[in-house]
Amino acid sequence: MLDPIMEDKMSSSSSGWSSGKKSGGVGGQWLYDEATDGGDPLGLAGVHSSIYASLRLNTPREAGGFSDFPFRPSAGGDARRYPVHGELLRYVRDFCDVFGLMDTVRLNTMAMRVAMGPPRRDGSLQWTVRSKRDGEEVETEEVFDAVVVATGHYSQPRLPRIDGMDRWRRRQLHSHSYRVPNSFHGEVVVIVGCSASGAELALELRRLAKEVHLSAKSTGEIMASAMSRILSRYEDDNLHLRLQVEHLCEDGRVVFDDGSCVVADTIVYCPGYNYSFPFLETDGKVTVDDNRFGPLCEHVFPPALAPSLSFVGIPAKVVLPRFVEAQARWVAQVLSGRRTLPAPEEMLRAVEEYNGGREAAGLPKWRTHDLLLDLELCDEYGERTCGFPRMEQWKKELLWSSVSNMRDDIESFRDGYHDSDLVTDGLRLHGWIPPATQPPQEEAD
Ligand SMILES: Cc1cc2nc3c(=O)[nH]c(=O)nc-3n(C[C@H](O)[C@H](O)[C@H](O)COP(=O)(O)OP(=O)(O)OC[C@H]3O[C@@H](n4cnc5c(N)ncnc54)[C@H](O)[C@@H]3O)c2cc1C
Repeated sequence: MLDPIMEDKMSSSSSGWSSGKKSGGVGGQWLYDEATDGGDPLGLAGVHSSIYASLRLNTPREAGGFSDFPFRPSAGGDARRYPVHGELLRYVRDFCDVFGLMDTVRLNTMAMRVAMGPPRRDGSLQWTVRSKRDGEEVETEEVFDAVVVATGHYSQPRLPRIDGMDRWRRRQLHSHSYRVPNSFHGEVVVIVGCSASGAELALELRRLAKEVHLSAKSTGEIMASAMSRILSRYEDDNLHLRLQVEHLCEDGRVVFDDGSCVVADTIVYCPGYNYSFPFLETDGKVTVDDNRFGPLCEHVFPPALAPSLSFVGIPAKVVLPRFVEAQARWVAQVLSGRRTLPAPEEMLRAVEEYNGGREAAGLPKWRTHDLLLDLELCDEYGERTCGFPRMEQWKKELLWSSVSNMRDDIESFRDGYHDSDLVTDGLRLHGWIPPATQPPQEEAD
């Protein structure tokens, strides 16, 4: 998705713009792309979207949407609480149309290089942006006062390191490159990783595949995950739990940690994604280290380069697009001079304190930007950074019950749910369901 406010907040020697990369439309991840990285697990072909054909949202639409533009069902679209992906694409397009954003979007344009230019006389930073339009040979170079990077973080596949991966001759792909199940018909498939993508793909593929083996780091991990109920439902059939893959053999064997093995046709890797900003040059002032990107104050401003460089959409496991709306508002307030940032040293100290706190809580470095779907923390974040209103209680309850239902049964949570009175009242008050009909009054004699 594009940062909705970036364009009119960037004063520059050139006019502000947002880029739609290679794609011919807005929507980011939600612009479903049949093309894949051709089974190349490193995703070198540079396809942006990781969305597969049958994907339905796992977040309830009534709690999603920007604060001033609810995610209502489209005419003739998918009105369900957890609609198919195209419904969210339609929402993003409508948002851009309604708020007149398309005039500032340059579609089919890739930012090739974003680099610090020589500072101005007053010491303020400026940024040189080199971009290229699809089909054109020449690159354009422009200078800006500020750059907001909102390029998403679900496009650069992360891969496990498994002995024999380079020698295994059969099909290996990352979930990033998965689109449709047809080619898995009758196959023996190993899925590595059992969080949301691994679990959902296992359920989709087991319908066509001969066998699906879901490999998790430990049995404990899988039993605590959304898959426990599913495994007990299908393990007598063709879905099997396996330990971590220990090594791969040239003859097609996949050997697991407990010594058991299967001869597989395909391995699908679902360990998630890495942060990657190949276009960005900051003289080492912002770097990725074991998937910790920074230093970034509140996951947005690099102390040494703020406010002229900022990042929207870095955190994972947050409510979208609400969370990025708060971040975008904060950036807009700072760039327009309505809010000031603390001094760089203070921001750096805050980053160190945050990282130290997370490490003390036992969270590994690679989970620095994982906000654990902590709705209270997200509320405090929005309030603290930009005065963003707290989320209504009924929406929180809807999200909590959605997550809990998903953990309980990832196969059925989208269609089998029951709302509490608080949620029902909230839905009614905000026009998601019709007003309650009053029981007919008894006629007085
Ligand atoms: C399989 C999957 C399922 C998901 N399911 C859900 C869900 O159910 N609910 C939910 O809320 N979220 C879900 N998400 C998360 C989803 O990614 C976010 O909701 C949303 O897409 C994040 O928006 P974004 O704008 O930050 O990034 P993106 O949507 O990734 O958009 C980034 C944009 O930046 C552009 N770009 C990148 N590099 C450049 C460049 N160099 N130059 C110019 N442009 C560039 C891209 O083309 C794209 O337009 C899912 C993600 C995946 C991968």
